[in-house]
This record gives sequence, structure tokens and C-alpha cells, in this order.
Amino acid sequence: MALNFLRGAGRAPVATPRVSFEFFPPKNAEMEASLWSAIRRLEALNPAFVSVTYGAGGTTRERTHNTVKRIVEETTLKPAAHLTCVGATREEVDEVVQGYWDAGVRHIVALRGDPAGGLGSAYVPHPGGYQSTPDLIAGIRKIGDFEVSVSAYPEKHPESASLEADVDLLKRKVDAGATRAITQFFFYNDLYWRFLDRALAAGINVPIAPGIVPVQNFKQTASFAAKTGAYISAELSRRFEGLDNDPETRRLVAAAVCAEQVNELISRGVSDLHFYTMNKADLVYAICHLIGMRPAPEESAARVAAE
Ligand code: FAD
Repeated sequence: MALNFLRGAGRAPVATPRVSFEFFPPKNAEMEASLWSAIRRLEALNPAFVSVTYGAGGTTRERTHNTVKRIVEETTLKPAAHLTCVGATREEVDEVVQGYWDAGVRHIVALRGDPAGGLGSAYVPHPGGYQSTPDLIAGIRKIGDFEVSVSAYPEKHPESASLEADVDLLKRKVDAGATRAITQFFFYNDLYWRFLDRALAAGINVPIAPGIVPVQNFKQTASFAAKTGAYISAELSRRFEGLDNDPETRRLVAAAVCAEQVNELISRGVSDLHFYTMNKADLVYAICHLIGMRPAPEESAARVAAE
């Protein structure tokens, strides 16, 4: 199963891929309302799971927990809670993990997290904390039989010396108990195929789902890509040129660009896709529709009746 999953090139496309959606915890009531409207719309597509991020340095600990708990209590969705090693002792992290287990959460996205001084500064592990992602995964596994997702970097992590070092670390995360990986976002599928080849050669045998970012705002995406090291070509920039103040056209272009990327991944056998939603449903919903996903019949009927 895993090898089929990993080796995209040359495989027959799957009928309808499985998708997962990432959200971030809201900061205020207005953001909460817009997040929940996105969750409700995307819930109808019956994703494999939805994940909720953890603010840098654990700053959203409570909000992440509350959002995940509300998903468990009020929706049919399976949540995955992101968790980092940053700024907390092992005991504090274990308490959060135990809290998730007690709340019925069975999936954690285990991360090292960014350095406390922000991207670009040196990462210093908390003296009493988990020292690395493999260390954190082993700790999570001791608490419960969680599914554990981890990050993967097709264009290498900005701090990493080489792609080989990243593949090596991914292997250690899998050996520690990670059951799947989700990639950092990228726009060039060849970089993803190259990474899968290297992962496969290193004996990594868990699914590596591509992380897809539909471009809501090109300027913001480009600035984020500069930080994460995601390549943006002149051609991609040209596609969004002149649209900074034209959100309508930008959205149509974004849908076309994302559909092109996703369709190529599916045509080469990718069966699981992870969407970075930015807490907005529309573009993601449209792409999912294009790849054959449909809401459950009663959801469609309810929407038509409401219109
Ligand atoms: P790892 O994959 O464990 O390591 C990343 C890199 O750090 C390595 O490639 C290596 O270069 C370096 N490194 C690690 N250990 C060592 C070592 N012992 N010696 C030398 N170098 C080392 N951030 C958040 O704050 N909250 C989130 O919710 C969140 N969700 C994410 C979800 C996904 C799918 C992805 C791809 C990223 C996410 N991030 C999140 C960002 C992530 O926290 C940062 O990229 C962070 O800098 C690395 O965390 P990691 O788990 O990816 O690290």
C-alpha cells in the first residue's frame, strides 16, 4: 500500500482522492465565525481528517485545544491536533497529549516547531523538553496509540544542510513511530516527485501527502514562500501580475493554477492531498469539486432548498 502511495509517477489515477484540510485556531469572535463557516462547508465533503495548527512557541495552546475539542463534539470530522516541542517541558507536552487522548482525539501532527527567536535564529531545545521531533513522537506513542503525522520538505527545510539530511530526519521520524507525512507547500510537482524518489530510496514507507496551498493572496504567498524556501517561478508571478487589487480575477486565476497542479498530481497516482485552507472554504471547495468530490446527497438538497 505504502509503496504504491509513495511512487506517484506512472500509476493510474485514483477515482476520487482522499483529502484533508488544515485550519488555524481563531484569535477573536469574528475569526471564529469565519473558521466555523469554512469548517461546516468543507465537512460536507467528508475529508479523511482536518488538522488544527499550534501557534509558534505554543502561543495558541488553549485555542488549538478548544478548536479541536469543538470539532470532536460538534462535527462528524476526525481532527488532528498539531503539537510542537517549543517552550515546554516533557511533562507539559505529555499533559496536552493526554488531554487530547481523553477528549477522543486520535491523531497528532508532531513537529519540532520554529526557534523561539523566529525563523532564521538558532533552534535551542527547551532543557526539560523533547529535544527533537523523533523524541516527541516516541513520547506521544507512549501515551496512546495515536496516528502521528509529521512534516516533510520537498525543497528542504530552510535550516537543513541538504535534502539528504531532511530525508534522513524523515526516516528517523518514521522509525520513531510517525505513520504519515505532509509536505510543506510547493508549486512545482517535479520537486515533490524528486523527494518521493529519495524517500523511497531511503526506505521510507509511509504515505507522504502533498501540501497544497491555493493562492488566496499572491503577495502574501510569495512572501511566505521566501521564508519557507518554496520556489516561485517568473511564470507563476506573471500569472498573478496586476491582480493585487482585483480579488475576483485573482480567485479565478488561483483556482485554475491550483487545479492544474492538483490534476497533475492525481493523474500520476497521488491518492491523498492536504489543503492549507487559511480558514477559507471557497477555493478549496471548488478544487475538490473539480477532482470529483461531492457533498453527501442530503447536504446538496439542503443547500438547494436554502438558496
Ligand atoms: P523537523 O522536521 O524535525 O526538522 C526540520 C529541520 O530542522 C531539519 O531538516 C534540520 O535542518 C533541522 N534540525 C532538526 N533537528 C536537528 C538536529 N538535531 N540537528 C541539526 N538540525 C536539525 N509550525 C508551528 O509552529 N505550528 C504548526 O502547527 C505547524 N504545522 C506545520 C505543519 C506542516 C505540515 C509543516 C510542513 C510545517 C508546520 N509548521 C508548524 C512549521 C514547522 O514548525 C517549522 O518548519 C519548524 O522550523 C520545523 O519543525 P519540523 O517538525 O518540521 O522539524
